[in-house]
Amino acid sequence: MLNPNEITVCLCLEHGVVTAPLVDALRAAGFRVSGDIDTPEHLAAAQVVLFQPSVRSAQHSMLVGARKTWIAYIDHNMASVHNNLDAFSVSGAREVLYADELAPHRLQRCIERAIKQQHALQRQSHFDSLTGLLSNRGFLEATDEALFKVSEHGRMVALLALDLRGFNEVNQHHGFNFADQLLSFVALRLKSALGPLAKIARLGGDEFFILLEQLPGMEAAQQLAQRVHAIFDEPFQILSERVRVQADIGMVTYPETLGSAEELMRNAHSAMQTAKERDVHLCRYEQGAQQDWTSNMEQALRVALRRQEFELHYQPKVCLRERTIIGMEALIRWRHPTRGLLMPSEFITAAESSGMIVPMGYWIIEQVCRDLSELAEHGLQNVCVATNLSFRQLQDEQFASVLPRLIQEAGIDTRCLEFELTETTVLTDPKRALATLEAVTALGVTISLDDFGTGYSSLTHIRQFPISTIKIDRSFTQRVSLDHEADSIVRSIINLAHDLNMQVVAEGVEDDIQLGFLLANGCDQVQGFLFSEPRPLWEVLQLIDQILRPVTHPLLTPL
Ligand code: C2E
Ligand code: CA
Ligand code: CA
Repeated sequence: MLNPNEITVCLCLEHGVVTAPLVDALRAAGFRVSGDIDTPEHLAAAQVVLFQPSVRSAQHSMLVGARKTWIAYIDHNMASVHNNLDAFSVSGAREVLYADELAPHRLQRCIERAIKQQHALQRQSHFDSLTGLLSNRGFLEATDEALFKVSEHGRMVALLALDLRGFNEVNQHHGFNFADQLLSFVALRLKSALGPLAKIARLGGDEFFILLEQLPGMEAAQQLAQRVHAIFDEPFQILSERVRVQADIGMVTYPETLGSAEELMRNAHSAMQTAKERDVHLCRYEQGAQQDWTSNMEQALRVALRRQEFELHYQPKVCLRERTIIGMEALIRWRHPTRGLLMPSEFITAAESSGMIVPMGYWIIEQVCRDLSELAEHGLQNVCVATNLSFRQLQDEQFASVLPRLIQEAGIDTRCLEFELTETTVLTDPKRALATLEAVTALGVTISLDDFGTGYSSLTHIRQFPISTIKIDRSFTQRVSLDHEADSIVRSIINLAHDLNMQVVAEGVEDDIQLGFLLANGCDQVQGFLFSEPRPLWEVLQLIDQILRPVTHPLLTPL
């Protein structure tokens, strides 16, 4: 039995006239009554809200957002409105209360019923008991509500469907409890990556849905989808194991694609399946175009290469001792004729699995060589440019013989060229990697180890390779000063690298706190949005004067 004395009822009524008898009846039934929900404190304090269906929009959103048990209240004056009780008004109401039911005992029963109903519903169908995320039903309601708001406020809604790769293997290998923990961790990372505004659901198994509201445009939607993709960059630590899982993500945006909440969920799901089939990780649903786009990624990449749709953007690396830009990383972009600028996460995996990364990789190296000459012409002859190498390129038997030819044709100084490889790239076929890397370094090209800290191996595993620089993965950089473990990992990577005579670059530096930590702990170079995002070469060249000058930053005092 609920104790009415512990229940505060908040009134959200348009016509003051009905308030007095209602308040009296509520008090007589033993409930506390607070004022109008226009004041958020009242709403926060209340367990139940009595709501008049004619009160609209802003308050309605507040109500639904606050997840209160609410009861539609209909008084005599509103008899005519009765028939107009549209779905929106009453959709979330647990009970409908009529003015002639104001007798205290009836009120009490109505409120108790509503609360019980709400609790049961929440437990059973609105939330996923494992992760605490929304369930299918809770998510559908939230999506309905979001779509409704789009027609009111404009802006965009994006729905993401996410499915884990390799989850069944985790289940088989480690058992259900372990797999459940993994799901809970995925839920946690999603929540912390997206913040409180995103609504996230798990639909059983390893399938998640994400609702992003009030987006200013497609770019914001894409950035958030990338952010979701990035939560899988680092492995999950479960008990004493580190497991790495990947996800396939499908996205649909409204109103670009129109439909009901259910239809949009289906569309996001089908885009996710396309991403999985085509091995691209991230795929956007577009009405009609869905099939053509990803059905032949290999073909699309080949055409793009022929039409010169790829470009390289450059992100500077700042030397902390010299306070200057001493290098840049080349990052590929695809300027798609109809889809705009595509990021590597949308096509690199497909390029790797189809083998297209090999010819693309040659183009990248040729382009880097051309850009190095251009940089030298602008007085930047000492800036070293790094490109990322995929394991497929290392497996390519011709790589070691083609590379010297490309370098010679371009007439560049080989010391200005660097390759970034991840541990996985190196360890996929260590024997071949070693042979290739020895041939490459014999030319004067340097090698750096990318995303360090995320793989399984220790530095000792890879000491046999001719590596001169280690790049600390951005997932560590971004946790320094927030998390003791990250602090000590970063510190020990720096010390270990220095003991082995290697340079250390921290990637993903975004703020002063991170920079301060890296400076204090002797990191050699930093790269990240704090100094610059990756930019096209012409933009880099426009900033040439700044680049030649020492980097200025409050923490980097003049030498
Ligand atoms: P990566 O090698 O780890 O590259 C660094 C990524 O971090 C880039 O993403 C860069 O834009 C992003 N980044 C840089 N600074 C910051 C920061 O401060 N904060 C955050 N949050 N991110 C930052 P991008 O360009 O999307 O590239 C993603 C990945 O795609 C690269 O990761 C690399 O593995 C791959 N990739 C990019 N270009 C190429 C390429 O030419 N060839 C190959 N094989 N792979 C490439
Ligand atoms: Ca890299
Ligand atoms: Ca990296």
